Formats: sequence, C-alpha cells, structure tokens
Amino acid sequence: MEHHDIAVIGAGLAGGLCALALADAGYRVALIAPQSNTSDGRTTALMDQSIGFVEKLGLWSSIVPLSSALSSMRIIDGTTRLLRAPTVTFHAAEVGLEAFGHNIPNAPFLALLESAALAHPRITRFEKSFQGLSFDESTTAVTMDDGSTLSADLVVGADGRRSPVREAAKIDVHRWSYPQAAVVLNFAHQLPHRNISTEFHTEDGPFTQVPLPGNRSSLVWVRKPEEAAQTAAVPLDALSMAVEQRMQSMLGKVTVDTAPQTFPLSGMVANRFGKGRTVLIGEAAHAFPPIGAQGLNLSLRDIMGLLSLLGPAGVEGIPADIGDRHDSSRRPDILSRTASVDLLNRSLLSGFLPVQMLRAAGLQVLSSAAPLRNLMMREGISPGSALQSLRRNLRKRSAGNRPDAIR
Ligand SMILES: Cc1cc2nc3c(=O)[nH]c(=O)nc-3n(C[C@H](O)[C@H](O)[C@H](O)COP(=O)(O)OP(=O)(O)OC[C@H]3O[C@@H](n4cnc5c(N)ncnc54)[C@H](O)[C@@H]3O)c2cc1C
Repeated sequence: MEHHDIAVIGAGLAGGLCALALADAGYRVALIAPQSNTSDGRTTALMDQSIGFVEKLGLWSSIVPLSSALSSMRIIDGTTRLLRAPTVTFHAAEVGLEAFGHNIPNAPFLALLESAALAHPRITRFEKSFQGLSFDESTTAVTMDDGSTLSADLVVGADGRRSPVREAAKIDVHRWSYPQAAVVLNFAHQLPHRNISTEFHTEDGPFTQVPLPGNRSSLVWVRKPEEAAQTAAVPLDALSMAVEQRMQSMLGKVTVDTAPQTFPLSGMVANRFGKGRTVLIGEAAHAFPPIGAQGLNLSLRDIMGLLSLLGPAGVEGIPADIGDRHDSSRRPDILSRTASVDLLNRSLLSGFLPVQMLRAAGLQVLSSAAPLRNLMMREGISPGSALQSLRRNLRKRSAGNRPDAIR
C-alpha cells in the first residue's frame, strides 16, 4: 500500500493551508478531496497572526493584490432598543499596526492553494473522496471512494462540518442552531471605504461590511431565515438600495454586483479534537456564526498548534497519541472562542433587558477606556498574547513592589 507521512482529508481553506504547512515542515503529504469549490462567494478576514503564518508559506505576495487591509473596525449599535450602545472604533494604529488583517475573497484564495499544492514536491493530490479509516498499531489506512487505499502515520480531518473523518474516528459532536441565516454578497460603492470595516449590530444579528480592493466591499448580513431568503431573491437594484439604506449611505451609492448566497447559522463543536492517529482541524472540529472573523483564524491556530506538536519531519517519528495531545492542547482556545462568539451572538438576539444592559455597558466601557480597548485588540489579533503580557506586567509590578527589589 502506498505510504505517506500524513493524509490531509479536505481541500478547503483549512485543509489546503494545513497540507502546505506540513509539506513545508518536511512531511510527505497526501491531500485528498474533490476539486475545491470555486463558487464560494464569501470573503475571509485573516488577522495579523494568520497573515504571518500565510507569509511563511510564501503565499502572501500572491494574496496581497486580491485583498484589502483592515485598518479600523467600527461597531455601530443599529438596534431600535431602549438601551443602545455607543459606537466603538478600533484603530490598528493604537496597537502599533498598519492593519488588523486583510480581507480575501475565498474563490481565488482556494484556487491559489490548489495550484500551490499541485506544485509542491512533497504533496500528492488525490482528487477523490475519503470513504473510511482502519487502524493498526503503527499506521492508519485510508480508503477512497474508488476503492483505492493508502496508509499514513497521521490523518488530518479538514473535511468540513459534516466531517466523514470525524465520523469514522467515532468522535461525537455537540450541535446547536440559531434562528438566523447569513446573506453574503459583494458590492461596489461610490465613496472610498478608507480600509474601515463597519459592523452594525441589529436585533436579528450583525450586518458587517468589510473592505475589498478599490471602492468595493463584501457584506455578511445576518437575518431571520425567512428574511434572508427574501433578501437573496430580490432583484439586484432593489437589493443595492436596501444595503445602502442599512449602511445609512455612509459609502454613498451602492451597486451589488454578485448574486447573493445564503448560509444558515449554526454552531458545532466536536467532543474531541483528535484521537490516536487522527486530528480534526477547521470546521471539522468547530463551527460558529460569522461574527468578528474568527472561524478560519481559529483553524489556522489548529494548524500552528499541530505543527508545534509535530516539529520538523525526520527528527522524531509521529507519535501514536498525537491526536490525544492535539486534543488537550487545542481545547482551551477552541472552547473559549466558541463560547465567546456564541455569547456575543445571543446577546444581540436577546430582548432580555439585563442582557442588553450588559452588552451596552461593555461597549460603553470599550469606547471610553483606551487601555481596555487596547487589550481587546491585542487579544483579537493574537489570542493569548494580551493576557500573557498583562500577566507579565503585573508580575513585573509586584516584583518591583517587593522590598528585596528596592535598591
Ligand atoms: C458567511 C461566512 C463568513 C465567514 N467569514 C469568515 C471570516 O471573515 N474570517 C474567518 O476567519 N472565518 C470566516 N468564516 C469561516 C470560514 O469560512 C471557514 O472557517 C473556512 O471556510 C474553513 O472551512 P474548512 O476548510 O474547515 O471547511 P470547508 O470549507 O467546508 O472545506 C471542507 C473540505 O472538505 C472536503 N470534503 C468534504 N467531504 C469530503 C470527503 N468525504 N472526502 C474528501 N474531502 C471532503 C470539501 O470538498 C472541502 O474541500 C466564515 C464563514 C461563513 C459561513
């Protein structure tokens, strides 16, 4: 049976990037998935830490012309409730950065990953579907839909929310749904966006405009499912008017120039993120509503975490419990991100006054307290780093206050 160090199942954004990163670390990788979906009309905002990762893969110079920098992010309370929060604007310059991240259209990003995988000397691309797994003590056998098999020391499930790999590894999931669907579209506008992303919080969910190159932006409009279906069905000129009105004409005249796509919103978290010689990454491991551009950024941290557990190829073999190690190392980050996105989304949906008060008060504090806003921004860009530096500073201060530190 043909042997590869690692089989990556799924060639979406998470699987494609994972295969390239593992191959760059010296592993021989089998990338197994049908041809990637070129009709994905979504865009993905990658934050600074993720961009650093993509840069190391040598892909950044090809991505930059497709993308737009996000220099400021503005949250506007667009609810009609009694308690409305003040507008909060986060500027990357406040934390010494030119941009928090970049917004990249998925379809050309996927095409770029596909051609990089085909060109990589250590990746073998199988345009087939995964069908099953079988295990023995030293390796794992992967069966594909044409009946062919290969063996690998590690199988990475990057095969999306319904992950057949997760099922084959007998890992259960916890799922939940929201009374919401996201309408996704891109539009041209008369006035420049000045690299500002604006998120209107409404009773039905967020309405988020994110800059694209030129006078263009992408939109994720979260609505009640029946309203989302109606929105996606209206003629483009009426839809353009509706988007312009919702944006209070802050970008001038709007022209929607792509057919809208809808995505029902749901949440999912696997009970484990790996087991034995199987690891789950991306939406095979976790999925949540598109708020605050968290999904793929979290998936890239799955890949970075896996790489640091594995180390470069050839130093030590891949341990048989790599999945269990990955599970324990990824648990805190995945569970805390899932819970915070869920909480933020539910706080928007809730008509319960104390919840509205907390949300409004939280945004009020952020709008007036620069150090706290700074902490939030650092935590958003590079999760864990802000809290670590806060701990370091507190330690330094308390050391400075100890009598033995006084000269
Ligand atoms: C509206 C919306 C907006 C979003 N915006 C952002 C954002 O701004 N920033 C951000 O970080 N995240 C965002 N996300 C999340 C982000 O899009 C996903 O995290 C991202 O697409 C990664 O998905 P994935 O690669 O894990 O899974 P998928 O894209 O679902 O890919 C799964 C892959 O597995 C393959 N596959 C499935 N079954 C099999 C099988 N049997 N055999 C082989 N292959 C198989 C599929 O063909 C596909 O290649 C958004 C999500 C939504 C819904």
